[in-house]
Amino acid sequence: MQTQNLGFPRIGAHRELKRACENYWAGKITHDELMNAAQNLRHQHWKMQAKAQIDLIPSNDFSLYDQVLDATLTYGAIPKRYETLKGATPEEVTQLYFAMARGLQAGDVDVTAMEMTKWFDTNYHYIVPEFEPDQLFDPACNKPLEEFLEAKTLGIHTKPVLLGPLSYLLLGKAKKVNFDPLTLIDRLLPVFQNLVNQLTENDATWIQVDEPCLVYELSPEVTALYQRVYTHITQKCPGAKLLLTTYFDGINAPEVLNKLPVAGIHLDLVRAPEQLAAVAPHLSKFELISLGVLDGRNIWRNNYTDSLTLIDQATALFRHQQLVIAPSCSLLHVPYDQNLETNDSLPEAVRGWLAFAVQKLTELSELKSLALSANRASEPLLVANQAYVAQRSNSSLIENLAVQDRVQNLSATDLDRNQAFPVRKQLQQDNLQLPLLPTTTIGSFPQTKAIRQLRADYRHHRISQQEYQQQLENATLEAIRMQESIGLDVLVHGEFERNDMVEYFGQQLSGFAFTINGWVQSYGSRCVKPPIIYGDVSRPRPMTVGWSGFAQSLTNKPVKGMLTGPVTILQWSFVRDDQPRAATCQQLALAIRDEVLDLETANLQIIQVDEPALREGLPLKQTEWDSYLKWAVDAFRLATAGVSDATQIHTHMCYSEFNDIIEHIAALDADVITIECSRSQMELLDAFVEFKYPNDIGPGVYDIHAPRVPDEEEISMLLEKARKVIPVENLWVNPDCGLKTRGWAETKGALSHMVNAAKSKRKEL
Ligand code: GLN
Ligand code: ZN
Repeated sequence: MQTQNLGFPRIGAHRELKRACENYWAGKITHDELMNAAQNLRHQHWKMQAKAQIDLIPSNDFSLYDQVLDATLTYGAIPKRYETLKGATPEEVTQLYFAMARGLQAGDVDVTAMEMTKWFDTNYHYIVPEFEPDQLFDPACNKPLEEFLEAKTLGIHTKPVLLGPLSYLLLGKAKKVNFDPLTLIDRLLPVFQNLVNQLTENDATWIQVDEPCLVYELSPEVTALYQRVYTHITQKCPGAKLLLTTYFDGINAPEVLNKLPVAGIHLDLVRAPEQLAAVAPHLSKFELISLGVLDGRNIWRNNYTDSLTLIDQATALFRHQQLVIAPSCSLLHVPYDQNLETNDSLPEAVRGWLAFAVQKLTELSELKSLALSANRASEPLLVANQAYVAQRSNSSLIENLAVQDRVQNLSATDLDRNQAFPVRKQLQQDNLQLPLLPTTTIGSFPQTKAIRQLRADYRHHRISQQEYQQQLENATLEAIRMQESIGLDVLVHGEFERNDMVEYFGQQLSGFAFTINGWVQSYGSRCVKPPIIYGDVSRPRPMTVGWSGFAQSLTNKPVKGMLTGPVTILQWSFVRDDQPRAATCQQLALAIRDEVLDLETANLQIIQVDEPALREGLPLKQTEWDSYLKWAVDAFRLATAGVSDATQIHTHMCYSEFNDIIEHIAALDADVITIECSRSQMELLDAFVEFKYPNDIGPGVYDIHAPRVPDEEEISMLLEKARKVIPVENLWVNPDCGLKTRGWAETKGALSHMVNAAKSKRKEL
């Protein structure tokens, strides 16, 4: 029995890597200083894992920005626009690397960044490889070998981590012309094999080859390609021991394993414990089987009894193989160290339930010793773990009987509005008296330095509650007057009191806890601190009614109440693992429902419930989409359907494609949906048009991600595009998303142009 880790968080206990990178970008530290900071982190992390007696410690899991971007440099798929930046010195390589990650404007160089997208179903974003049909693979670095040798100088024999060639191509995107990146495999293979051979020549034993795409429902052609490619690699790389690594779900077609002549395989047994039995018949040729029993995606201490059951099952199934205990996936997705949590907002008991990356290393070693122990039942480690499990599941902290009762007594009608949309629309219009092509925004207004400073001052008790309240009221008042003067039809309060669209709600809901240092890398130097949902969720008191009500009291125009939806709150939090996600989502929905009803009582006639994360919650396997979409859509309906028909429910979604889930979006039955659309030149609207989406829709008519102010004509053009395909009585006019990242000058400019575009269009009708 051995232990292995698949990857360690690289950002550092105190986000040292973030600081180093940002200082380097700002020209405040030299290249050498950046390299030193990175090396220090690698050394610390390797030593820590060695000390925790992990048998297979990863290398090349470190990255200055993103591991997929690292692979792009290592395999040498540098897009042509960066050609002139190629150079031989380490500093030039770093410059090229960051130019690809972030774009570069310096001297006569002006290149855009590569695209970024979510890594499977995580909140981590990777840099999407770009391929052209004549793509060459010309390595710009040999990071895997360098880091392997670097660890060796510390006396630590590591297991290099490589992104497998097929997942690498599958995760990339054809640029310019449409073609299948997999057709490039025979060009990539020699580079990959060369890399593997160099590692083997330098004494690497196991090499971790990540092929997470094996959990997708691959076509028979792609499955066959897997067999061909790995057969080829094993032939060309004699002596290499490849440990094929899958995660985030079960391997989709385990038969493929029969014909993959690699030596080792890693299975995610947290997401897919049932796959153990399914893969077993196909693993007889394997030398090593890695059991991913520790949750690499969540922050709860492991339940040793459950893990040992899986380990025992595997021991019985695989008598001749080396078994390895591992986290389900890289620990990149969990925070660094639970010991750094010293705040009071984290209940003492809940703190004791948490295992971050550092704690998970200890858990691996403990599980190994328990698995090997002759009298396991009396081992203090197991006894202590069972005590934790019992204490957590019996804790009064997690239980709220009133909430459970409410869930029990829900009925199907709680998910339905009283009448169908056409009737509601009439009632709402009678109330609201909006013009055709009503104009609105998505919710947030610029979070200026002053506003962020204000919240920080309040948080650190540098100003009084009264002072804080007063300043926020001033900001809200100003935002209302600004919207009135621009001539918007439906106003918002501006969200100045919110730090983040999930945290703001989490902090006011019961069942949530917050860390002070629970940072997880989101992309590059950007980290997020997801809330922790540890118990039944309830809403002790109204969360937004004060601000929305205040804003409405300032104006005769309708103000939209602004809420985050249950699915998005769920998706962007660490969620309890002792009940299905669907059950937690339902509780969140009830809490939001209460808020919706309170807003309605406070005279808000329009309420928006944002669900930007609805799509990213989709399971990796399409066969599971329907059941997810069912409970996700039901949660939204539960949150919103309690209002009277005259109250208008809006929702908002961004960075989404809608084609394949359009019927479920329609099933939300929101009266109005606003979507991000402008960057795709209204292409994203096609899904709604083809489906004949029945309710009102506001396709974003300008991109809020850049400071650029579009002129009236440009907005008019996009609006006209939308008008041609959406019945004019169903069409709203709004930006793509919230304006929190923008400045005031550009916000006012762009919104005025938008309102004018809508007004001119109305005259043409
Ligand atoms: N109401 C939120 C805002 O305007 C929506 C943010 C989002 O869609 N991500 O900021
Ligand atoms: Zn948005």
